[in-house]
Amino acid sequence: MTVLPSDVLARPLRDLRISVTDRCQFRCTYCMPREVFGRDFAFLPREDLLTFEELTRIARVFAGLGVRKLRLTGGEPLLRHDLPRLIADLAGIGGIQDIALTTNGALLARSARTLADAGLHRVTVSLDSLDDAVFMALNDAGFPVAQVLDGIAAAAAAGLGPVKVNMVVKRGGNDRSILPMAAHFRGSGHVLRFIEYMDVGTTNGWRLDDVVPAAEIIALIGAQWPLEPLPASYPGEVATRYRYRDGAGEIGIIASVTQPFCRGCTRARLSAEGQLYTCLFAGSGHDLRATLRSGASDQALREQITAIWTMRTDRYSDRRTRATSRTPKVEMSHIGG
Ligand code: SAM
Repeated sequence: MTVLPSDVLARPLRDLRISVTDRCQFRCTYCMPREVFGRDFAFLPREDLLTFEELTRIARVFAGLGVRKLRLTGGEPLLRHDLPRLIADLAGIGGIQDIALTTNGALLARSARTLADAGLHRVTVSLDSLDDAVFMALNDAGFPVAQVLDGIAAAAAAGLGPVKVNMVVKRGGNDRSILPMAAHFRGSGHVLRFIEYMDVGTTNGWRLDDVVPAAEIIALIGAQWPLEPLPASYPGEVATRYRYRDGAGEIGIIASVTQPFCRGCTRARLSAEGQLYTCLFAGSGHDLRATLRSGASDQALREQITAIWTMRTDRYSDRRTRATSRTPKVEMSHIGG
């Protein structure tokens, strides 16, 4: 096995995020707003998506280059037909130690057991509020909270835990849901993670004022239930971890805006049509599908990926935060409040 050299900033390649579809049944205002992803939006035709065979082949090549963790995402990954078959194929790849899935939870209750049986290890479920009115205003698809909670419970029962619950926090949108969410998930065994609202391109009308900084979230929760920091579980972990001092479990904060973690980023991203991106914010990708469909060998694919990774210099969030951030770093004095 050839392990790939690190990139220009000495970051190894360890994780691959695979988008299995560009479609989603939600229209979260911060992600796929209806004004852009409306009735006339041209989603990818089926033949443009990488097939399961192509995805498995790419994942095997990545595993040979040092990738240990796969995460399936989208769009909404559970909308991809027959996903457990892909998971079973991926689970058979030597060197892959962890297969995770990020989902909106809408279809999770009915599929958790099958996903676990196929070889999925863990799920992360997105949930931005426990208040139906707030949640529905954000998902813009009339989708109720209860169904997502059922999905979380089914995932935990199927052994896909500890379930991580991702809450994107938008000022004036769902910031009042921070404490009720913390209260609900304390002591549940699930790990609630707060994500600073990010600028994902020109589609969501992002403004810095809409971001609730990690420091503020930690101060708010810490004042109610004292917190203390925990060390990262592994190098390059995106969430900063805290635990409740009373033993009611842990929370995480993904502070991509105020405390970017580009320095430890070991992730590559594969889009549903086979473009490889070396950063969430990269403006353009590298076409692996063209290589695959030209009949290239695994060695040619390896060489293409090696050339892309070893040239990687991305540190978009670092640069952007330095240029624009007026927000404070997390003050340790807030913690434990
Ligand atoms: N459909 C799946 C889901 O809802 O989890 C997977 C795809 S979704 C794009 C992956 C994660 O990105 C979700 O947790 C979502 O909340 C988060 N996300 C999307 N747009 C975001 C933004 N503008 N800022 C921060 N997080 C965002």
